[in-house]
Order: sequence, then structure tokens, then C-alpha cells
Amino acid sequence: MQKIYDIAIIGAGPAGIATAVESVLCCINNIILFEKGQNHSETIRKYFDDRKPVDRDWKGLKVDLKGNIEFEDGTKNGTLETFNKSLLDHRIDTKFSTEIDEISKEGNHFHIKTNTNETFIAKYIVVAIGKMGKPNKPDYDLPKSLKDRINFNITDCPGHEDVLVVGGGDSAAEYAYLIRTDNKVTFTYRRDKITRANPKNTKNLLDSVKEGVIQLKLGVDILSVTDEEGKCRVNFSDNSSLVYDRIIYALGGSTPKEFLSKTPIVVDEKGKPVVDENHINSDGIYIAGDIAGPLGGSIALALNHGYNIVQDIIKKDNYCLKQ
Ligand SMILES: Cc1cc2nc3c(=O)[nH]c(=O)nc-3n(C[C@H](O)[C@H](O)[C@H](O)COP(=O)(O)OP(=O)(O)OC[C@H]3O[C@@H](n4cnc5c(N)ncnc54)[C@H](O)[C@@H]3O)c2cc1C
Repeated sequence: MQKIYDIAIIGAGPAGIATAVESVLCCINNIILFEKGQNHSETIRKYFDDRKPVDRDWKGLKVDLKGNIEFEDGTKNGTLETFNKSLLDHRIDTKFSTEIDEISKEGNHFHIKTNTNETFIAKYIVVAIGKMGKPNKPDYDLPKSLKDRINFNITDCPGHEDVLVVGGGDSAAEYAYLIRTDNKVTFTYRRDKITRANPKNTKNLLDSVKEGVIQLKLGVDILSVTDEEGKCRVNFSDNSSLVYDRIIYALGGSTPKEFLSKTPIVVDEKGKPVVDENHINSDGIYIAGDIAGPLGGSIALALNHGYNIVQDIIKKDNYCLKQ
């Protein structure tokens, strides 16, 4: 007989880790956590720059933390260490380098298939796969020949370049600010005001513009990008056409619709998972973290989702609470 887990959690980012930790703290030990990356928190590892301050109130959103993982303003390394410690301290059974490809429901149980064709069975599933596995791309085509000069984070930004940062939110503002000291940076956004970034990031950006270290190009769309002798020629809707060494797009992430189509997860007309106030999608399926919301979420929100979901499962299944 194959083992039946109480909860299978897909995705070891903040939401998945919190679900696992809160489960163990509530005596639900028969759980398994799947992570497609070699380590937990792939989004933080890949998209957070080492110099980036990690904000607890990301996007200015204040969240009262309900669960047992302590998360405060800090650094990328400090945040990763907090999650490392949480997984180790609570001995969470984590399967790294294991991407979940398909889920099916047979009777009351879920059958979870991995990319290596292993199958696991669980009573509940918590889907916490985030949105940054698929960063948003612009509508126009990007020349394949420029693939090394077009990025979706600043990890591969070597410095001493003329860089165009595209986006209007916190990630874009932060990227522009962090690379301003060793690059010539232009920040472009299709609206004529920066309204989506939080007050701190907006101030940093506008102060840098005043100091002349970041150029602003607001209220314009990019119509196309072409390869000009290995550099990026950008054609804007105000008829200007400028050449940059590199373009960084910070346009957020999107719902992994292909994955969802191979699962019993119920989606709305836009292909996004349906989620109620208890994070329930359908019988036995919970959705946590960024993928649960229409906009990008935050680490604190993701941690609370994990806590809330475990509380809901306890209510339903009468698990004992540890003193
Ligand atoms: C540039 C940037 C800066 C940010 N700064 C902050 C900040 O300062 N403070 C803050 O609170 N928030 C910040 N955020 C937002 C924060 O990173 C997210 O809200 C948070 O990571 C969401 O957690 P999550 O667990 O929902 O998803 P994620 O962190 O995206 O984790 C999802 C995990 O699931 C894994 N996964 C995906 N698909 C599968 C699959 N099929 N099988 C197995 N595993 C899978 C992924 O590899 C990943 O590890 C920032 C985001 C970005 C992009």
C-alpha cells in the first residue's frame, strides 16, 4: 500500500514553508513539501538582489503576522536563513528538485505526479507555486539575438552599462535604484506618474532623478525592440528611438495556466484559480501565497495564508493542537 500523506504542499516559498511549519506545530506531521528548485524560496533567490532591503510591509501593505515564523525587515540572506531554520527546526520532509507536473483526484485522495514520474498520494493539497516561475513579458516580440541583453531581474547586470528599466511597481523602482551607482539608468513607465510603488521606493527613485543619476521617461509605451549591432534599440510611442546596452523588465509574474490545466484546480474565466476567504479552491484543495491573489502578494501575506489554511484543516479534521 502506498503511503497517504495528510497534506502535500506544492512550492517551498514563504507560503509553502509556512503551511508546512504551521502543520507540524499543530501535530500534523504526515506532510510532504515539493520544490522544483534545488533549494527553497526560488523567487527570493532569483529575483532579490543581495543589496536589496527585504521589506516586511512590501508595497506599503501592513500585515499582522498570525503564525509562528518570525519575519521582520531584513536582508535577502537573513530572510533565506529564517526559512532555512524553519525547515530544519521542524524537520520538514522537503523534496527538492521535484517539479509537480500533474494532479488528479481519485476518490477522496489526490494523486500527485512529479517530473520524474513518481506518484504521491495525499488527502489535502496546498498549491503555493507563486507567479514568478513565469515573469510577465511585453506584448511585442523580443529579438532572440538580444536574449543575453534582456533580463527580468538584475542578477546578470554586469555594471558600466546604459540600462533601461521597464515597469511601474516596487520591483522596477528598486531595480533602478540598486543599479544606479554603477550604470547609467533610465526608468520608463507607460503612465505619466509613479503610483504603484510604495512611498520609500518612490522617494528613492525621485531623489535619484533629482540628483541626475536616474533618467525618467514616463507616459510612453514601448512599441518595439530591435537588435542594433548587438544592442537594444527601443522605439517609443513618442517617436523617440534610443539604444541601450540592456533592458530590465520588471512587470510582475503570471498565473501558471499550463500547470493548472493538468490539475483539478477550479479556475475562473481568466484561467486564474478560484479562491474563497478560507483559501479553499475546491474540496481538499487550498491555494496559498501570490498565486491566490489577482496582484502580486507579499511574504507576510503568504505566511498568513499558510497559517490560515492549517487552522481550516484542523477545524475540519479535528487534529489535536500542540500545547
Ligand atoms: C523583485 C521582487 C522584490 C520583492 N520584494 C519583497 C519584499 O521586500 N518584501 C515582501 O514581503 N515581498 C517582496 N516580494 C514579493 C514576494 O517575493 C512574494 O510575495 C513571495 O515570495 C510569495 O511567496 P509564495 O510562496 O506565494 O511564492 P514564491 O515565493 O514565488 O514561491 C513559490 C515556490 O514554488 C516553487 N514551484 C513553482 N512551481 C512548482 C511546481 N510545479 N512544483 C514544485 N515547486 C514549484 C518555486 O520554485 C518557488 O520556490 C518581492 C517580489 C519581487 C519579484
